Order: sequence, then structure tokens, then C-alpha cells
Amino acid sequence: MSKVPFITKEEAQEIAKTYPTPFHLYDERGIRANAKAVKEAFAWNPGFKEYFAVKATPNPCLIQILRDYGCGCDCSSMTELMLSKAMGMEGADIMFSSNETPEEEYAYAAKIGAIINLDDITHIEFVENILGKLPETMSCRYNPGGVFKMSNGIMDNPGDSKYGFTTEQMFDGYRILKEKGVKNFGIHAFLASNTVTNEYYPMLAKQLFELAVRLEKETGADIKFINLSGGVGIPYQPDQEPNDIKAIGEGVRKVFEEVLVPAGMGDIAIYTEMGRFMMGPYGQLVTKAIHEKHIHKEYIGVDACAVNLMRPAMYGAYHHITVLGKENAPCDHQYDIAGSLCENNDKFAVDRMLPQIDKGDYLVIHDTGAHGYAMGYNYNGKLKSVELLLKEDGSVEMIRRAETPKDYFATFDCLPIYQNLEKEF
Ligand SMILES: *Cc1c(COP(=O)(O)O)cnc(C)c1O
Repeated sequence: MSKVPFITKEEAQEIAKTYPTPFHLYDERGIRANAKAVKEAFAWNPGFKEYFAVKATPNPCLIQILRDYGCGCDCSSMTELMLSKAMGMEGADIMFSSNETPEEEYAYAAKIGAIINLDDITHIEFVENILGKLPETMSCRYNPGGVFKMSNGIMDNPGDSKYGFTTEQMFDGYRILKEKGVKNFGIHAFLASNTVTNEYYPMLAKQLFELAVRLEKETGADIKFINLSGGVGIPYQPDQEPNDIKAIGEGVRKVFEEVLVPAGMGDIAIYTEMGRFMMGPYGQLVTKAIHEKHIHKEYIGVDACAVNLMRPAMYGAYHHITVLGKENAPCDHQYDIAGSLCENNDKFAVDRMLPQIDKGDYLVIHDTGAHGYAMGYNYNGKLKSVELLLKEDGSVEMIRRAETPKDYFATFDCLPIYQNLEKEF
């Protein structure tokens, strides 16, 4: 599948007059079409709900779009809970799937009625001590250990991951929770990340559905929902076949009818906590080539850096790049595309074949809509960029302003000199 920028070179030039590069741009039309497809793919399950993983793209303006399709929020921290609450969500609209969770975060989650998804069996007592009494609805995160394999060779390694309850702990945990008065139960698991195959959710679902049947039979816990969490991936490489969410929904339905319906558990709700799949393809980072450097390799220096998009530096992740205005030019130049951090891993691409790049060219870095801006940091004193929404009518709206030096210095309460910085800029 070819990767298409949301904007032309002329449009980038126009936008940059108001919002200088680098900027993150999100495509409202794409977000809506995808959210609608997700909703339809699981419409067979009356209780279905997607809890958008806030950590992927923590921007309320974008999450508000997902609200139109019935999405709630999946939170991993205090500020994500606060953001969801501030957006008007409460109770069953919020899932709290955290780990190594501080006391005050559990307390706040309970206060706003979020569904608490426990990451460990010892957290039963931990939460009980904080709240006095456990909420009526609780969920537990499952980690079967071992490796998770699919037929296309994709696999992940739950046995090596810090999350969840073991199988034995699931049974003990549900018994204890039931004794302590919990009435409604959920099961959650996240066993493989960025899976680009329609097989992942159905395989995971089968494993969780079978566990649910055994758990209900052996502990008497009333299981109300099964949360397939995140992990549905996107094709970062242009030659990858994207996931077909309709086929994924149908695959889950098939195992639902095979396993849960015959067990008399056909009223269970399916929940998801997708982040990447909901937003990843609908964000692009636009940056400008500001330097070219010819040493042992050919470098193009751009005005974005790993602070704007950390995935290539952190994971060596591939993000496709289009040079605006040169969409059809031959890719006959080999470049490293470098950001300005004092870190040699600050490269958006290494040995990438691209059209000849000239200073002033705009580069579009694709698939930055999830785990992009969100992973940003302030190393080298770099400031985070603006976030822009390309609306369905073609207009551009600022949905988060760029950071300024004042933001960077804002936490130095002890040094009043920094509070008068405005006059410096
Ligand atoms: C990160 C995360 C998600 C979202 O994962 P994606 O790969 O972005 O879909 C969902 N649930 C939990 C608990 C997570 O940690």
C-alpha cells in the first residue's frame, strides 16, 4: 500500500506560515472512517466498547472525535485519569489498566468510578487497604507466560514481560475477589504488540474465552467482560498488508460462538484498548530539511528530532518518509535523516533511498499518530511541537500549542529569575 501524505507541498508551505515546522498533523477524516469501521466490526457484540489507550495520543480534541463512535478511555496514570475525567468521562467509560500503580492513583480511579484492572494478585490487598472496600466491578490482567506465536511468524514473549497474573493466580485471585464481595468480573490480556495480522485478536480471544469458561465454573465469578486490550498493529512499511478490522471482528465472533455461547456465556461484552490502530496512520510529522552534510555518509538535517518522535531512536522503528513535491521523483539518493539531538541515534532514517533532498524541502514522516508526540521529552532542552488537526472541511485547527521556553522553565519555582523570562523572548 502506498503511503500518501495528508497535504501537498503548497499546503505545507501555507500551514508553515502560521505554524512553523516541525508540526504533528492529524487527519480527522481518517480517524473517523477507522473508528466507524471498528464500531461496525464488533457490532455483533451488544456490549462492545473500545477504550482508547490515552497514552498513545493524549490529546482531548482527538479523543473527543472517538467519543462520537462510543469510545471510552483506557488510562495508565493519574494525569490520564484526570484528562478523561476533565473530558466528561466517568464510571464505565474509563478503564484503568496500570501497573506498579501508586496508592493515590487507585484512590482517584475508584473515586471517579473507573473500572480497575489489577496487574498483580498482591494488588487485591493493596487496593482493599486504600479503599476500605473493593469496588463491585473489577478486572484482572492475565499473563500465561511462554511465547505467543502466530502462523506468520510474529510472536511476542509474555514469559518475559512484567505484567499480569499467572494462570494459577487468576483462579486464586477470582476466588479472593469474590469472597471480598466483588460481583462483576473482567479478564484482560495484552500478549503481543503491533501485530500486523488478522489472527492476533481471534487467537487471544480463544485463549481468554476458554479461561473465562474455566474461571466461571471453578470460582463461580460472574464474568461480564473480556478485554482484548491493544496490540493490533499498523503497516509502518509500505509493502505490508494492513489489518482488516472487519475480518478481525468476524474472527473474534467465530470463537465467541464456538467457546462462550455453548457455555451459556453469550452475554459477555468484548472490550478493546487499541491505541496504535485507532490513531497511528492518521498522524504525520512534518519537518523541514535545514542542512545537508557530506562526510562519511550523506546526511540531511531536519528541524524535528527524537523529541518529536522517539520510535526510530528507541526501537530502530521504520517510519516511511515522503519528500513533498517529489512524490514521483526516483529514490536514487541514500541518506541518513538526522535530528539535532546530541545523540547519534537521533535519526529518522538510516541508509534510506529517497529523492534528492534540497534545503527547504518538507519531509512528511508517516504513521506518527500514536506513540509519536506522546513519547516526547525535553532532552537537550528541546521543546515539543504544535499539534494540528486537518479537519474534514480542509481547514487546519491548532489542537495543542507548541511549548515555549517558559514551559520549559516553569518547574523552577525555587529560582524566581526564571519567572521573568518573558522579556527574553
Ligand atoms: C499500550 C497499551 C495499550 C495500547 O496498545 P497499542 O499497541 O497502542 O494498541 C492498551 N492497553 C494497555 C494496558 C497498554 O499498556
